[in-house]
Amino acid sequence: MKPVIGITSTLVKLNEFSEGVYVHQDYYRGVEACGGFPLILPTTEPETCKRLIDLCDGVIFSGGEDVDPQFYGAEPHQHLGPLLPKRDKAEIVGVHYVIEQQKPLLAICRGIQVLNVALGGTLYQDLPSEYPNALQHSQKSARPLDTHWVDLAEDSRLQGIFGHNRVRVNSLHHQALKDVADTLRVTGTASDGVIEAVEYAGPIFTVGVQWHPESMWERDPLMKALFYAFVNECKESAEAKRTVPVSI
Ligand code: MN
Repeated sequence: MKPVIGITSTLVKLNEFSEGVYVHQDYYRGVEACGGFPLILPTTEPETCKRLIDLCDGVIFSGGEDVDPQFYGAEPHQHLGPLLPKRDKAEIVGVHYVIEQQKPLLAICRGIQVLNVALGGTLYQDLPSEYPNALQHSQKSARPLDTHWVDLAEDSRLQGIFGHNRVRVNSLHHQALKDVADTLRVTGTASDGVIEAVEYAGPIFTVGVQWHPESMWERDPLMKALFYAFVNECKESAEAKRTVPVSI
């Protein structure tokens, strides 16, 4: 049976008459191409978010707005971007709930930042002004194109999936992880030291990446392998849960 993969979304206002759910099509096309059923999760009240996660075998926390610094105890920096605190609240509860339910989690771009903040970490609010000698992390090239390297930690899940110690990635972020939550391990870094990937300690697939594999998989087999590995973990963990133990 194909696993159901929840994908968090944001709100957009198209015009005076149209306002609602938005998620880049690359996410749900990637899930579908790798054998999953994508289910777009709207921005809701936290309790609704948990009930929606009950319907999913795994969740992708997608990209989007900056995380409101109030959630990691900071004041807004001059170059902080647009915020959507309602989404932050739901996703912070969502991260905890997915981990508690032992469901696989893939956090992408804003997602890795939400994952870190939810677990007690902090963020750089604007790399160009807060991180001396940072690379160009807001690339001018098209979204699917790789622009910088990421070095992967030994024995990390990502190194296992990619079969390499370093990979080329795209880069569309002006924020990054600062203090890393105690329960996360840094498993990917750029050459300037900026954190590009983290993994949660434990047997369940819980991976955050700062780049956008969903926009690379179509032309990059390594990024397709990452999407496939995630969808497959969701499938296997859902099947394991459906196997009801026989009571003695
Ligand atoms: Mn980057």
